[in-house]
Amino acid sequence: MQERGKQVKIIATIGPASRSPRMIRTLIESGVNVFRLNFSHGDHETHAGSIAMIRKASRALGREVAVLADLQGPKIRTRSTENSGVLTLATGSTVRITARNIPCSSSVLSIDYKKIASETEIGQKVMVNDGAISLAVTAKEKNGDLIARVVSGGEYSSHKGVNFPDVDLSIPSLTAKDRRDLEFILCADVEFIALSFVRKAADVRALRRIVDRKRPDIRIIAKIEKPEATRRIDEILPLTDGIMVARGDLGVETTPFEVAILQKKLIEKAACAGKLVIVATQMLESMIKNPLPTRAESTDVANAVIDGTDAVMLSGETAVGLYPALAVQTMTKIALVTEESGYQRRDVVDLSLDGEEGYPPHAVCEAAAWAGRDLGGIPIVVFTLSGATAFYMAKLRYGFPVYAFSPDIRVVRTLSLAWNISAFNLPFARDTGRLHHDAEKLLVKKALLCPGDTYAIISGSSAIPGATNTLRIKRCGEA
Ligand code: PEP
Repeated sequence: MQERGKQVKIIATIGPASRSPRMIRTLIESGVNVFRLNFSHGDHETHAGSIAMIRKASRALGREVAVLADLQGPKIRTRSTENSGVLTLATGSTVRITARNIPCSSSVLSIDYKKIASETEIGQKVMVNDGAISLAVTAKEKNGDLIARVVSGGEYSSHKGVNFPDVDLSIPSLTAKDRRDLEFILCADVEFIALSFVRKAADVRALRRIVDRKRPDIRIIAKIEKPEATRRIDEILPLTDGIMVARGDLGVETTPFEVAILQKKLIEKAACAGKLVIVATQMLESMIKNPLPTRAESTDVANAVIDGTDAVMLSGETAVGLYPALAVQTMTKIALVTEESGYQRRDVVDLSLDGEEGYPPHAVCEAAAWAGRDLGGIPIVVFTLSGATAFYMAKLRYGFPVYAFSPDIRVVRTLSLAWNISAFNLPFARDTGRLHHDAEKLLVKKALLCPGDTYAIISGSSAIPGATNTLRIKRCGEA
């Protein structure tokens, strides 16, 4: 059998450092399973170009990958600074926060959200540049400006994020820009849409309604980066296909001290609900400039793997960093060492999926995982039309190879985000024996199975979603 690959999946953000056919190819070869297009940057033409490059590279390598379109969401930003330069807000100084369209300076912070004065109270916090600067509101002026004291100073520049963690903002979850981006995304070759700054279940429901009208095949990832979302996670999870622990804004909106525990809680919640989970942001941050990660960063990636995340994500490291390929290779190495160590959580077998108790496909997956372990960790082959059986198998955290086959290429690509699933496109023969034979032949050709190897097969007796009802233990080469 072939040397085993990593089980956790890697997401790489495309940006100027990686938007070339050659680099995309190298990133796939280095271990990327999903590419993220960040709609906070770049126009539709650029994103369309990235998708075309990704598909071309993936075809050339014979490795399917998924594309995740990450909507900007209601992110408030600074307007342009004077001469587009870097400005300093000094600790103890006073700053005016205004929605008027004027340049930012070291005493005026101009932002792109009009209603801020009416929604903010004196004493509330304002965080600038991903939390690098912290302000406290001291007065509200008649003209709609806020006056604030710089509690902890620092540098900022044009279009940096501004967070109001204490304010329940009335800004809609899908902004006008998001809606324009969605029009493009729903016609594009993508598998996932990430919704930023989710606050409540209704935010996800609103996106789901729009997506389902045109592209029900697209899966939704709710980005958890607001304290409200962490509190309402139980009502958000049933409506989404997965969540992203978006630690950048989460650390600003809560505190950096809480992020580790929130990450653990969110991974566990998602796992028990049978939903995908991604850990994101600053995973190998210093690799934006250096060829080696810090010890703390490599420990962070390893801990996310041990916590049981489905995927780990690179942002600036692959979008604008000096070492995009090295960052992915480093992440892959950390994943392999950590997975080999046996420290990873493997006890997430008590899935409480709403309304799906007593569901035969799930019972068959559970039986396969038990039988597979009993037989010394044999590979499991899953036939899946919608992807659901393979996603469920992933959540059982069976630590040995799982090969999924689907006749739908979109399903195959979507499974790129599921933990430990290697998925392949295969037209489904009507006859079950023929179907099993075709899959075995493909696995032997790829050196993933050898004649004589024992393996398990999960399949159904008819080709309709939800018909999975059979577990078979088979020897490779046997009729
Ligand atoms: C984050 O805040 O961690 C995140 C992933 O979102 P974005 O990069 O869009 O700010």
